[in-house]
Amino acid sequence: MNRRTLRLLPVALAGTLALAACGGNAASQESAPAGQDRVQVVTSTTVYADLVSRIGGDEVEATPVINSVSQDPHSYEATSRDKLALSKAQLVVANGGGYDAFMDVLAKDLKLSDSTLVNAVDTSPIAEGEEGAADEHADEATGPDEHAGETAEEHAAHGAFNEHIWYDLESMRLLTDEIAKRLGTLKPESAAVFTENAAALTSDLKALEARVEKLHGALDGKKFAMTEPVPFHLLTDMGMADATPEGLSESIEGGGEVSPQAFNEMGKRFDAGEIDVLAYNTQTESPQTERIRKQAEGAKVPVVDFTETLPENTDYVSWMGSNIQAMESVAK
Ligand SMILES: [Zn+2]
Repeated sequence: MNRRTLRLLPVALAGTLALAACGGNAASQESAPAGQDRVQVVTSTTVYADLVSRIGGDEVEATPVINSVSQDPHSYEATSRDKLALSKAQLVVANGGGYDAFMDVLAKDLKLSDSTLVNAVDTSPIAEGEEGAADEHADEATGPDEHAGETAEEHAAHGAFNEHIWYDLESMRLLTDEIAKRLGTLKPESAAVFTENAAALTSDLKALEARVEKLHGALDGKKFAMTEPVPFHLLTDMGMADATPEGLSESIEGGGEVSPQAFNEMGKRFDAGEIDVLAYNTQTESPQTERIRKQAEGAKVPVVDFTETLPENTDYVSWMGSNIQAMESVAK
């Protein structure tokens, strides 16, 4: 099987406020030269390092294991350096759900306790009962402990669970609460700062959720196709349904070949007006995805670009804001 290579050019987002995101923040290093009393957090990806940095501010140093936009978290294998970093971390934040399996391996090797580890899938309500259908998004949070006895792989194996949960704003809002709580336990004297920062982030996330909610009017019942199953949660949260031919986006994400039948079916659905938007992952462009893009363009189906990981020179909230903005333009 081919390993896909992620690639991502830095994007200049209009109106983006470049928040000091992942680690290496010169200003905060000056204010705490020793850096000794900052809470050391290691995360799997830059999405989670960005969220932790916003909640922790100068009191926390968040380091992502995967810091390069060309590295694929799905297939990444941890190094001994990563293991050393995790062994020193006071808090470890992973996505879970089989997405960043290297973190499961490290956590097991290092026998990390539940009090050290935060798993975004575990604090998310959508890991429960999601069957991949557009209208299944549960608004009420179910207890995170129902699947406590399972490994992430077992959980993911339930079927249609989509592990790209940072594309679900509500999940990131719940994770924000959890991270603030954990940081407050690790550094009680700064608990008020964490709560305050988390409240500011929460209000940003709620503003994004309100925009998603507003899109229901225009997008309810509309259908999307995806070159990869990445923005699934965001689009279904807008009221849309996934109409990608069976197996197509999974083949591309797994680095495999799309079958001629799947290409034909995709083209047929575009031509028949059964697809309203193509969600296109620019990070893993290939002749296969370009062919799908051409099919969509030929049928005058709008194409919206998404990426799997956080682009460089931006932060999570701005990134999701521009993803939503792209959908707002389509909905007009
Ligand atoms: Zn993925």
